[in-house]
Amino acid sequence: MPVPFIYHPRYSALALPPRHRYPIQKYQLLKAWADAHGARRSQWVQPAPINWQTVATMHAPHYIAELANNRMDKQRWRRIGFPWSEQLLLRTLTSAAGTIRTAQLALEEGCAIHFSGGYHHAHHDWGSGFCLINDLALAARAVLDQRPSSKILIFDTDVHQGDGTATLFANEPRVTTCSIHGANNFPFTKAVSDVDIELPKGTTDNDYLETVDHALRALIEREQPDLILYDAGVDIYRQDDLGHLSISLNGIFARDFGVLKLAREQNIPLAAVIGGGYQRKLDRLIRAHAQLLRAAYEVWKA
Ligand SMILES: [Zn+2]
Repeated sequence: MPVPFIYHPRYSALALPPRHRYPIQKYQLLKAWADAHGARRSQWVQPAPINWQTVATMHAPHYIAELANNRMDKQRWRRIGFPWSEQLLLRTLTSAAGTIRTAQLALEEGCAIHFSGGYHHAHHDWGSGFCLINDLALAARAVLDQRPSSKILIFDTDVHQGDGTATLFANEPRVTTCSIHGANNFPFTKAVSDVDIELPKGTTDNDYLETVDHALRALIEREQPDLILYDAGVDIYRQDDLGHLSISLNGIFARDFGVLKLAREQNIPLAAVIGGGYQRKLDRLIRAHAQLLRAAYEVWKA
């Protein structure tokens, strides 16, 4: 059974000002990479957007009203970093639906990959760093609503701390949040996850991979999660425009392979999102994100 790939063309359909730093095309380019590297037609799953009621399971009604009606004050809106548009809202609701779907498919199939997601800087009533609503949190919430006795591990290896996820689940014992991130990276005021590991500027492959492996093994042993939500951000890459770490392409593959393999060995369903990755050179960025797909092929022979 091939690993389900969750994708919607809307992910890259967002008009942004020229030279905006967000690489909005990466989603469709990664989809094209997968198609060129043997993805089967039956592997693709297209999510339908969630509604605001579902968003309200994790976010404050007044924040939702500000988002939906473009009524947020300028300063709060500027933190998010995208210009407001109907297109942005629809894309956001579709992407959150994608992560929810990915979690559900992972529970059914063992592993699933979302070609978007990882909007981990979205808090209960404010957004920042390109994140309006927290798809990881919404996915965890959807699983808990269906299976209240589940334990979920959100394992976030994006170079930026998953601060929104941490605050949203600060008082939820069924969800364990772990963030392994650059100490000198955004957000500069860090939140408190269940486990935070800060890495110094310039961290290279060996130290990084050992840290990730050690953390994941310890968390699996301690928490025995029923599901892992994995943020496979590639802004750890040494070529990244926003990250301060120095991880090679092989290092990215080794991280993703190690995480997926360990989850499979332990029979823990794993839902991955591609997370952050910021480079003007899109071919290089796609190569970095493609390591997650290569890892899935290796581990699941999908
Ligand atoms: Zn990031």
